[in-house]
Amino acid sequence: MKIAMIGTGYVGLVSGVCFSDFGHDVVCVDKDITKLNQLEKGIAPIYEPGLEELMAKNVAAGRLSFTGDLAHAVTGADAVFIAVGTPTRRGDAHADLTYVMEAAEEIADALTGYAVVVTKSTVPVGTNRQVKQVIQATNPGAEFDVASNPEFLREGAAIDDFMRPDRVVVGFESGRAAKVMNDIYRPLSLRDFPIMSTDLESAEMIKYAANAFLATKITFINEIATLCERVGADVKKVSKGMGLDGRIGSKFLHAGPGYGGSCFPKDTKALARMGQDHAIPMQLTETVIKVNDEVKRRMTDKVVDLCSGSVNGKVIAVLGVTFKPNTDDMRDSPSLTIVPSLVGNGAKIRVVDPHGRREGEELLPGVVWHQDVYEAAADADAIVILTEWNEFRALDLERMAKSMVTPRMADLRNIYNADDVERAGFTAYVCIGRDGFGV
Ligand code: NAD
Repeated sequence: MKIAMIGTGYVGLVSGVCFSDFGHDVVCVDKDITKLNQLEKGIAPIYEPGLEELMAKNVAAGRLSFTGDLAHAVTGADAVFIAVGTPTRRGDAHADLTYVMEAAEEIADALTGYAVVVTKSTVPVGTNRQVKQVIQATNPGAEFDVASNPEFLREGAAIDDFMRPDRVVVGFESGRAAKVMNDIYRPLSLRDFPIMSTDLESAEMIKYAANAFLATKITFINEIATLCERVGADVKKVSKGMGLDGRIGSKFLHAGPGYGGSCFPKDTKALARMGQDHAIPMQLTETVIKVNDEVKRRMTDKVVDLCSGSVNGKVIAVLGVTFKPNTDDMRDSPSLTIVPSLVGNGAKIRVVDPHGRREGEELLPGVVWHQDVYEAAADADAIVILTEWNEFRALDLERMAKSMVTPRMADLRNIYNADDVERAGFTAYVCIGRDGFGV
């Protein structure tokens, strides 16, 4: 199959690379010249484990290329995927469909023969029909169908998620579109990965419902964690006990500093907005958004408590600023709430993150970046673990404690336990939903 992929962000690039690895001919399109220059040199503009290698393999095989010329990519394509951003629209929290509709217009102008225009971006119910109208209005003679194919990959594990998905969801209205989509995903259906066929509206809704459910699960355990702290329970044990129940499951049940990232915050807001637009308020989701904001804010209080009531003038080493490990994505990361709030309270912040600096430098003004975690902790008054990168899971805590002015730790991902931290020489420790000490 010949595929054009519009947008080479976290979703478009991974999808394009993986489709080419299935054996399809893929042309990836982007407007961003800097990204294109990097891609043409074989450099992935994002950090995603395994991506650059798979990209190189498929470019070398002649199945994958990059261009800024959308018309060139669309000409002769069996399917044109729209994988552009759908951020929160300023003012009303609706999903901003500007990029999707612009792409639809450009695609319409470029269509020559029959193609399926597939929306992979996360879009509110009704958007695929709007895309169809835009294409029809722009190019009344165009021969095409639309299909909805929301993406469920997780940054940091994106290639594996794409190659071994729990399911692929495809919404369509015509048999012709269904055939093209089946051909594209045949390498997965042949290996028995479920391909779920449905209508356009249900496909669009599945994505929002799934993300809002996961955000709710995380927020639920975060709220339970707060109560655990008050009543003397240990949220890690509570999560384990809950997660062993097959009806609940253990995933997305780890208490932390609140959900962030490029999807949950904007998708929960867009779902809430969709509910309001249709006079069916999404009351649970609206509450989840509110509670998550409170959870993030509470993290600053924890660090202030750790530092005996004030962070003013204190040197604090923050370990990890990306919204989760194995990505460089900083969008809506809890660090963007917590770090500025500590800086605002007078703290001198040092930051270490294996891949966060490129994105983070602009977003976190007034902090000092370090490469080495021990260098960042030396002479500090406290360390704060914000992202559970593997390299932060087995630190030499004794070495760290000895080098600090006051060895104190806020472990906002619960990756250590109080006994080990105390034994290593720390004098104060706070975590989430469990007892710490020295505070
Ligand atoms: P992104 O911001 O990383 O990438 C979007 C890309 O599209 C950018 O490179 C931009 O330059 C390009 N673009 C915009 N308009 C264009 C046009 N007209 N022509 C060519 N290129 C254009 O976004 P992302 O994180 O990949 O997300 C894309 C969509 O996928 C969103 O709707 C998102 O909600 C959804 N999604 C994201 C993830 C994730 O983990 N990031 C997971 C599932 C779904």
